[in-house]
Parts: sequence; structure tokens; C-alpha cells
Amino acid sequence: MSARSPKKKPRSAPSRFYRRLTRARRQRLPGRMRALQLVRRCVQASVLLALISIPVFSLYENLRNQRDDIGIEARFDTRLVDGLLRENPERRVLATKLRGSVWTLKAGDTVVSDPLAVVDFSAAARSGVDPFLLTALIPLLATLLLGRVFCGWLCPADLLFEVGSTLRRWAGIETNVTFSRWTKFCVLGLGALAGFYLGTQVFAEIYPPRVVSGELYLWITFGAGGAGAWLLLLIVSFEVFASRRFWCRYACPGGALYSLLGTFRVLRLKVRADRCTQCSKCVSACEFGLSPMSGKIGNECNNCGHCVRACGLDALTWRIGPRPKDGFDIIAAAERSAARETSAHGAKGTVEENHDTAGQ
Ligand code: SF4
Ligand code: SF4
Repeated sequence: MSARSPKKKPRSAPSRFYRRLTRARRQRLPGRMRALQLVRRCVQASVLLALISIPVFSLYENLRNQRDDIGIEARFDTRLVDGLLRENPERRVLATKLRGSVWTLKAGDTVVSDPLAVVDFSAAARSGVDPFLLTALIPLLATLLLGRVFCGWLCPADLLFEVGSTLRRWAGIETNVTFSRWTKFCVLGLGALAGFYLGTQVFAEIYPPRVVSGELYLWITFGAGGAGAWLLLLIVSFEVFASRRFWCRYACPGGALYSLLGTFRVLRLKVRADRCTQCSKCVSACEFGLSPMSGKIGNECNNCGHCVRACGLDALTWRIGPRPKDGFDIIAAAERSAARETSAHGAKGTVEENHDTAGQ
């Protein structure tokens, strides 16, 4: 009998446990990301529903106070709003607790304002720190920690622009005029200066979330829109035919303010270079024209998660932590990985060390 020594596995081969782990993670990923997108859509839909409900309930309450039953019959579907509120005074009180829009929202005694509303108001009033500033504390804190989270999750105009983006994709339109991202910071600065000089609120007229809210209010209350509807139509048409997500990337003063405030955000994207095959699916998925796999997202990312979902290999993930010293954690991770890979003559095991798969 000849004693045969068992064949040794090459050191670089991933263990069976690791293979199972990564396979399981890859199988889980689409469902998990779909769930996150579903949550995002639900949040966006809730904001839109609130923006519609507020003027509807307000109008209903006014007509009730005027005892205008004919007006109520004419304006409301009795099975829905009237049927919901007529015989229930408690519900009616509750329904009128929410007032305003995404520009300034009043929920009971709590007032929450968009930071851009504070800038706009302060510039027009030519005042410095104002008590109004306190109403923007919650959005300010959220932006400092999460970056442009308002854009990706709450802005009603973003929903509209995403519809435009989908139309553009369906129509196969390739034309994409690009501008400098600095343009929106110029819009922010010039708008504030103009407001200060003219003594009027400039952003309130051109800021899409505010315009969407205002137009919904006009349509519901008076049955007709204003100039804002034309502005929105113009922006969406330009985005569909000429420039993908033009407004949010290059022109929105709110987006500019959120980008500035979110410079030191703690919620960040991270690339796992050992999994990234440089397929660029995440780049194509990003409506903001960012390059997640290269780490060049800066403070523009709106946390929409399209790129994370597009990557079927789980190479992109979210992390919470401070900004790395070089400012480009994703690039640094990729470079570190590449360097280790080279020094280990392509040994995959070394690359795996570079990432935190075991801990997740
Ligand atoms: S950039 Fe402006 S319009 Fe676009 S999502 Fe952000 S706030 Fe809304
Ligand atoms: S980098 Fe990803 S999460 Fe950020 S805006 Fe682009 S697709 Fe959305």
C-alpha cells in the first residue's frame, strides 16, 4: 500500500464557509435592497399624500365652518373626505393638526422648516440669526449626519424628476448636456444676494419642493395652477430631452445647501474592492452622475441606494463613520486592496483581509 499524502488546498482558495457566506449574502441582497427601495417609495408617497391631504382637509374645514353643504357636495367625494370626517369631530380636529408644506410644516405646536426657507427668509428680512432658525434644527441635524437625505427620501420634486428620468430611459434618449456642479452654489449665493437686495423671498418662487406644494394647494383650493406648474413642466422637459437630472445636479439652491451642510456626513458609501469587478452598473444606475465605485461621490450623494441595488455582487455598502483623512475612503480602500493584491502576487486571501466581511 502506498501512503498518499492528502492533496493540499492552495492557500488562496476561499474556504467553503466563506463561499457559502458570500453566496448567501448575494442571494439575500436583491430582496434586502428591494425592501429598502420600497421603504423609500413609501416615504416619498407619504410626503405626497400629506401635501395633498393638508389643503383638502383645510378646505373642507373652511366650508364646514361656513355651513356650505352645497360647496362640500360639489368639491368632495362624499364617500371619501366627507364620509371620513362629517360625523367625527375628533378626526376633524386631528386632520387639521398638520399645516403647511415641506417648506414650513406645522404639526400641532411643533414647527419644522427647510433650512433653505430660513436662508430665504433671513436674506429677505435682512436679519441675522432669527428665532425662525430654531425651526430648522431637526433638518439641519439630519443633513449634517446623513447628507442630502431630504433630496433622496423626502423631496416631492425628486419623485417627479425620477418619473422624468424613467421616461427618458424608456424613450432611449442619449443626449445629456452637462454643466459644472458649482452652478448650483452660484444659484444659492446669487439668490440669497438678490433676496437681500430686493427684500423679497427669491427661493420660494423657484425651489421645486416649495413649488410642488404651492401648486397642489392652488389646484385643490381653486381648481387651477399657477406659474409654478409651467416651471416644473419646463424643468422636467429639459431633463427628459436634454440633461439627465439637470435641476438637482446643477441648479437647485436647496441641493447646494444640503451638499454644503452634508460635507462631513457620517453615513457614507463604501466599496469592497475585492468584490468589485468594475462593471460600472452602479455608475449607470446613479441618476446624479456620480461614480460610486471610484469613490468620487463627495457630498453630492442623496442616499437613494440605486447604486447599491444595482450591484449584484454586494460590493457597495453603507457605513457610518467619519470622513477619512484623504477624503476618499472608497478609492483608498480600492488602492489598499490593489496594493495588497500585488504584494501577495495575486493571492486572493490577502485581498480578503482588507475587508470586513467576517464582521458583517
Ligand atoms: S436637489 Fe432640490 S429638487 Fe432635487 S431633490 Fe434636492 S431639494 Fe429636491
Ligand atoms: S451614489 Fe448611489 S446612493 Fe448616491 S446618489 Fe448615486 S446612486 Fe444614489
